[in-house]
Amino acid sequence: MTTVKAYGATQSTSPLEPLHITRRSLKPHDVQVEILYCGVCHSDIHTVRNEWSGNTKYPVVPGHEIIGVVKAVGAEVSKFSVGQTVGVGVMVDTCRSCKPCNSKLEQFCVEGITGTYNALERDGSGMITYGGYSSEIVTDENYVLDVKQTENLAGVAPLLCAGITTYSPLKYAKVGPGMKVAVVGLGGLGHMAVKFAVAFGAEVTVISTSASKVAEASKLGAHHFIHAPSQDALKPYDSSFDVVLDAISADHDYTAYLNLLGLDGRLLVVGLPEHNPKVAPFALIKNRRSITGSMIGSISETQEMLDFCHDNNIVAEVETIPMVYINEAYERMIKGDIKYRFVIDLSTL
Ligand code: NAP
Ligand code: ZN
Ligand code: ZN
Repeated sequence: MTTVKAYGATQSTSPLEPLHITRRSLKPHDVQVEILYCGVCHSDIHTVRNEWSGNTKYPVVPGHEIIGVVKAVGAEVSKFSVGQTVGVGVMVDTCRSCKPCNSKLEQFCVEGITGTYNALERDGSGMITYGGYSSEIVTDENYVLDVKQTENLAGVAPLLCAGITTYSPLKYAKVGPGMKVAVVGLGGLGHMAVKFAVAFGAEVTVISTSASKVAEASKLGAHHFIHAPSQDALKPYDSSFDVVLDAISADHDYTAYLNLLGLDGRLLVVGLPEHNPKVAPFALIKNRRSITGSMIGSISETQEMLDFCHDNNIVAEVETIPMVYINEAYERMIKGDIKYRFVIDLSTL
């Protein structure tokens, strides 16, 4: 085991602070990664502040948008070699034997995924996983991604969560030319959803509570912008869209967004607010609408997404920050004051 530097929280009401954590010795299929960059996802904030059913195990070291360089490999590693640029996303293990695991859909593992942070390792050691707000990570090669990008690696980091979490449901909904797609919540996830929906050829509308994002939405490629400080502003757009992707982090109801959908329209839910949204059945039965949830994507789909971004020059819009800025970054994210992802430069740890 090695002791490494990290940043984390010891309780829900404390700011993040410097910590030392241990990383396991290399097992035969393990890869040791020196972390260069780690994106800051709103899930990090939900977890640090214990907003999801009180499931946080302290101390917690967040971070699941990791880009780094392989420093060492275990004896039986075949997929990666020392010096290679790699990524680690939201999951670091699954049961590897259930139906979803055997169908390249391991994000839906029947036993649940082992999260990159705040999860119990499956090896019986009782160790809790620690994420990317850290100088290095040791993890199984089967849950590591090959990063072909050589430039702007800070902009690549958010693809590991914000990227795959929006790419996967848009693909599942077969978003493409001739479809009208609305993205609600122009944050880290939302801005990637816009980039992908545009790249897939759809007509894209951003629905945002922030009037200040209108110019940037168009720079991201969106064709239309609706400023909706309250849900009342959405009434004129009843039955206007084929797909609405909901990437809102704060508490909200689904009904007003369902009403935006035309015949067989689909509300793609990725946002995970603290409290459960309300749904009006009348809004569901009209137009035979449906709600589809989606959780990240499989490792193979994450690789496909990274390669798609490489081939199409897609990266996240980021503000790179030193590690000590993290508490201020959280406050700014909650206020919506970020365009569109903070990424920590781990050389500052
Ligand atoms: P983020 O960067 O903080 O963006 C959230 C956006 O929500 C904000 O930019 C804001 O957009 C909008 N918003 C905030 N408060 C709102 C309100 N009261 N009403 C309406 N809109 C509001 O967060 P993120 O990192 O993209 O994450 C978004 C959500 O997805 C989080 O809940 C996160 O935990 C979840 N998530 C889910 C998965 C998954 O696998 N399903 C994976 C990662 C993250 P505007 O300024 O445009 O209104
Ligand atoms: Zn995330
Ligand atoms: Zn499984």
